[in-house]
Amino acid sequence: MVKVTVCVRFRPLSASEKRLHGDSTCIQALDTQSFTLKDEKEEDVTFTFDKVFYQDSDQVEIYDFLAMPIIEGSVNAINGTIITYGQTGAGKTYSMEGLGVLDDEEDKKGLLPRTVGGIFECLGSSVEMIKWTVKLSMVKTQKVIMLFARDLFDLSKDNIQIKESKSQGVFLCGATEIPIRNSTEALRCLNMNLASSRSHCVYIFLVQQESTKDEIRLKTGKIVLVDLAGSEKAERSGACGIVLEEAKSINKSLSALGNVINALTTGKVNHIPYRDCKLTRILQDALGGNSKTALLCCCSPSPTNASESLSTLRAKLIKA
Ligand code: ADP
Ligand code: MG
Repeated sequence: MVKVTVCVRFRPLSASEKRLHGDSTCIQALDTQSFTLKDEKEEDVTFTFDKVFYQDSDQVEIYDFLAMPIIEGSVNAINGTIITYGQTGAGKTYSMEGLGVLDDEEDKKGLLPRTVGGIFECLGSSVEMIKWTVKLSMVKTQKVIMLFARDLFDLSKDNIQIKESKSQGVFLCGATEIPIRNSTEALRCLNMNLASSRSHCVYIFLVQQESTKDEIRLKTGKIVLVDLAGSEKAERSGACGIVLEEAKSINKSLSALGNVINALTTGKVNHIPYRDCKLTRILQDALGGNSKTALLCCCSPSPTNASESLSTLRAKLIKA
């Protein structure tokens, strides 16, 4: 059975939420793992997770808890994935990027820029006789309906196929892989992304080591960071036409991801349905096996968003 670390983060109340309900929230903290959520339409529900980050939590805490173990794993050729999940506006991109990957404010930096720094820090302290190569790819799903993946380094590559080989595992066939030598270079590349709440954004770091000691051996650790599309209910959003179709398709791919994670964590299912959508296929060898997986469920603490937060916290994806 696979263990997935599931955490919840409540962002601070936004200005518009404060205008509606002042400082009141729909959550009552119990401890660092549990809280009670109050939704006027339902009875109070108490949730327990591996860790709850409340409104005053900072980016460093999130990084230390979720990303550090995964970075350390990658240097030992263990794959890892961090996924942010939740409704639009709940803090997924803020947790992943901060205010922007090139933003100067150190304390606002999100998981992506910190992970880049963390990888090079780890490599700096590693043993000699190993030649390290770090490569970065990033894709986002577009026309989620058909689940195409588009290369964010080369937008003309708009239908990246996912293939599998013995030596590379699951990989994005033909996607640009930019070799990065240091954090500055990586951040410049990452700054090219066009994150959108209506697509899934996937960042892949390959950390490759070539031992030059005895015979030449190549080992690779993969870190995948995923900023998922907003999980809000398609019907509730009042959308119609193409936007509604898109929202339904996002929900479908999120549910496919939920099915995979459930199958992995319950251990009850023999067949893991990776092939059900492009997103789960991309993540295939970075979820399950001996990979480390962490989920960060982002929620608004406002009473206005209580029912959306409730459905985020009850999602199959995170119940595992
Ligand atoms: P999402 O990606 O889930 O749609 P965002 O990350 O874009 O949501 O967050 C919505 C807004 O809330 C942004 O303006 C963002 O800067 C702000 N925000 C989110 N989380 C935090 C946080 N923990 N601290 C301060 N501001 C936050
Ligand atoms: Mg976002």
